[in-house]
Amino acid sequence: MPRKKIVVLTGAGISAESGISTFRDAGGLWEGYDVYEVASPLGWAKDKEQVLKFYNMRRRQLKDVMPNAAHYALAELEKKYEVIIITQNVDDLHERAGSTNVVHIHGELTKSRSTAPPYNIYEIGYSDINIGDKCEKGGQLRPHIVWFGEPVPLMADAAQITAEADIFIVVGTSLVVYPAAGLLEYASHNVPKYIIDPAKPEVFSVHKNIEFQVEKATVGTPKLVTKLMKD
Ligand code: NAD
Repeated sequence: MPRKKIVVLTGAGISAESGISTFRDAGGLWEGYDVYEVASPLGWAKDKEQVLKFYNMRRRQLKDVMPNAAHYALAELEKKYEVIIITQNVDDLHERAGSTNVVHIHGELTKSRSTAPPYNIYEIGYSDINIGDKCEKGGQLRPHIVWFGEPVPLMADAAQITAEADIFIVVGTSLVVYPAAGLLEYASHNVPKYIIDPAKPEVFSVHKNIEFQVEKATVGTPKLVTKLMKD
């Protein structure tokens, strides 16, 4: 019998207890920076050095933190289910916890991308990107991150994956950053849906069968995984 498909949408909240702060909880400042200064094409045009410095710091921080019980619990689900994680996070904590199928709709800290066609993407691990780091075509490298106001190229894939879910789980996202927030609406009406977040997000949805777990990710996720492993 084919295995049931679980699709999990995760946001910054799942990594909060690993020590990576969400910015929505910090009043619009992300580690002391105005997000629009460091995470927008306008910010990049204005001050490339500041943007690179900001992401270099995020990458260094990422090297020093560890996945938490929520990341590990989701990896555990693969023992019984086909699991696809759609994450808004740019960290690599799902992969480091053992999840094998992760779609990063907002990009990845551990990659750089050229600003010149064909906009090649490079693995950089936890190393810095500096002014003057260029691709073979001479284009300055930038973080491989989807900034505010930029298109989300993997959105159509994410919608298709969500539509095929037998169970849909959301962990640690305010569901206010579009287009990702709209993914819930692509899930089938009859499939069970769970939302784990200590601040119950206001959900504008046609779906009535949503179960809220108003708990931190490291509490609610292992609990839900234990239940799903028994079902
Ligand atoms: P967001 O809008 O998804 O909000 C964060 C959510 O996490 C809130 O609903 C909050 O209640 C919840 N939360 C806080 N602590 C939690 C916990 N312990 N357990 C479970 N949930 C918890 O995210 P944002 O911070 O506004 O960031 C928006 C975008 O910025 C992200 O989608 C991402 O692209 C980027 N970002 C990435 C990271 C990362 O990669 N770790 C961190 C911050 C921001």
